[in-house]
Amino acid sequence: MGDALAERLAQEVARRRTFGIIAHPDAGKTTLTEKLLLFGGAIQLAGTVKARKSARHATSDWMEVEKQRGISVTSSVMQFEYEGHVINLLDTPGHQDFSEDTYRVLTAVDCAVMVIDAAKGVEAQTIKLLEVCRLRDTPIITFINKMDREVREPFELLDEIESVLKIDCAPITWPIGSGKAFRGVYHLLHDRTLVFRPGEEKRVEAEVIAGLANPELDARFPTEVGAMREAVALAREALSPFALGEFLAGRQTPVFFGSAINNFGVQEVLQALIDWAPPPQPRDAGVRLVLPTEEKFSGFVFKIQANMDPKHRDRIAFFRVCSGRYSNGMKAWHVRAGREMRLANAITFMANERAIQEEAFAGDIIGIHNHGQLQIGDTLTEGEKLGFTGIPYFAPELFRMARLRDPLKAKQLHKGLKELGEEGAIQVFELEGGQLLLGAIGVLQFEIVAERLRSEYGVEALFEPAEIYTARWLVYPDEATRARFEREQAMRLARDIDGNPVYLASSRYNLEVTMEKYPTVQFRATREHR
Ligand code: GDP
Repeated sequence: MGDALAERLAQEVARRRTFGIIAHPDAGKTTLTEKLLLFGGAIQLAGTVKARKSARHATSDWMEVEKQRGISVTSSVMQFEYEGHVINLLDTPGHQDFSEDTYRVLTAVDCAVMVIDAAKGVEAQTIKLLEVCRLRDTPIITFINKMDREVREPFELLDEIESVLKIDCAPITWPIGSGKAFRGVYHLLHDRTLVFRPGEEKRVEAEVIAGLANPELDARFPTEVGAMREAVALAREALSPFALGEFLAGRQTPVFFGSAINNFGVQEVLQALIDWAPPPQPRDAGVRLVLPTEEKFSGFVFKIQANMDPKHRDRIAFFRVCSGRYSNGMKAWHVRAGREMRLANAITFMANERAIQEEAFAGDIIGIHNHGQLQIGDTLTEGEKLGFTGIPYFAPELFRMARLRDPLKAKQLHKGLKELGEEGAIQVFELEGGQLLLGAIGVLQFEIVAERLRSEYGVEALFEPAEIYTARWLVYPDEATRARFEREQAMRLARDIDGNPVYLASSRYNLEVTMEKYPTVQFRATREHR
């Protein structure tokens, strides 16, 4: 490889950070996103994030949501520069449209920022999303938000994170008071206090008071400083000190306190991202590990978004670059299809007002227009037969049986569901008698699929409730066990879109009993795309 290119790749990779924000709805993900963009100088886009969210709030009607898709494509990935680093922030849908997309997006990041509402602590969605990060030991930075409100005790919050999420907390900043008496945070590593000043408008450097014993603290915050000093001493004694290796291994999370709406504590999170979060990492491509600095281009599709114009079946495949350099108009090898594909006019996601970016490197996301050639999990290379792994299907939590109003349209229904299943909009299972069962993680997925079947395939489908608790992918130890299982459990068996055997449990109890009955059969809650 040319020395100049090698050097360029090494530099570009080293300065990239690709992350997502995970949070329970209302914890402050949108606000933090906007503030991060503000600090990154991408103010224009900040408005877009808010617009998208309010549009979503205004209506749960899917067609209306659909109208926002133009916005939603551009704010799905937000790239901006901060102190010489290129930051890719991947949006993880977390509201009404919460679905499998969220999970898959997390396979394309190298780090995650977890936002916790300080009044509420760890909430249901936080737990789920963290479990997904766990699958790949993704490093997590924690931001405890809304300190300007009446909130819970910091020790109690950290204790909850440690016990519920099973991750060690290393406080980096410690709050001084809260609510109306929120005075700021003390930085444990820098030994200085950052003074809180409310205000949403623009980024301002926080006032700094050096040292914990500084009498200025006593003069300024006489009522709060005593408790703060005690708490910091106790935190130093009782909690883990920050250890980079532990963080990178996903075992420890550095914790920051702040108030996103007041721009307070946001800069510290950005600093942690560039100082500690990993640059694009080597990725498992099945046959071998691919290094981000390799000369040849490679990557995978982790999300598909259907375009606004249903007549053209135009889709955007969100593609994570894993190695080499993407350049506009280049040709790539579509490994699954076994043929070449020209990558012209892929969307890149520079949030700043700059010239359209003509190239991308490992860690970057590009949006590739296609008409269904690209599916979730597809790998593109410069010729090598790689297959990036790790994009999961999760056992659905909601099930519906698909039925037709017009039985003559069975063929269109099959075709439509197969294609929507391949696209990842929904999971499709075929039962013994050929009936189709749909599985989803978010209920909006059913609405979207019904609407798309109608508009794109001309099929009116009814989705009826199915008495299924969960699905598990089956791995048999041997042929004899498979035959026995299939004979005895025929009523509860199905195949997924790729033909893999699936067990449909009617209840948790049913699942447990069956697992006990067949101890050598594996019942998996996730499976990877091909
Ligand atoms: P998301 O649902 O996680 O994206 O949350 P949002 O960013 O939309 O925030 C939810 C609500 O909390 C909004 O009304 C915000 O204005 C508010 N909020 C966000 N950050 C803060 C904060 O630091 N302090 C206070 N008091 N409110 C906040």
